[in-house]
Amino acid sequence: MTKILPIIIYPNPILRKKSIKINFKKTTPEEIKKLCSAMYSTMINAEGAGLAAPQINKNIRLVVLSTQDGQINLLNPEIIKKSWNKICDSEGCLSVPEVYGKVKRHKKIICQYFNEEGKKIILEAEGLLARVIQHEVDHLDGILFIDKAKIKD
Ligand SMILES: [Zn+2]
Repeated sequence: MTKILPIIIYPNPILRKKSIKINFKKTTPEEIKKLCSAMYSTMINAEGAGLAAPQINKNIRLVVLSTQDGQINLLNPEIIKKSWNKICDSEGCLSVPEVYGKVKRHKKIICQYFNEEGKKIILEAEGLLARVIQHEVDHLDGILFIDKAKIKD
């Protein structure tokens, strides 16, 4: 059964809170997988490429992505390396409907995260995937793309 969650819309203050790390001692892989699956369905239903937990009313460091290789769940993600090169491209956000703007992001990044079992994973990303990860990790720190974008009407 696919569960669709309500998406929190700007300017809800939840979107501005810094999210806390997932504690693997206080949660089970099953709980996390269930939440990720609901987040993934919610994101696909809304035609998004990524969704961060604050967007579904949970201030925890969790991000779900839709990639060429399918679903990826990032638990406690951290961008540990950024390219000097930046690219400016158009962005939107499921929490800020009908607003688009150009945002400068690092072209390549290395992201460290944990999977549901608590295994540390290193992901190298560039282009669109790197952009989506930077956008979603910003959400975990209460940062929205409209803070960085050149908005066009
Ligand atoms: Zn967003």
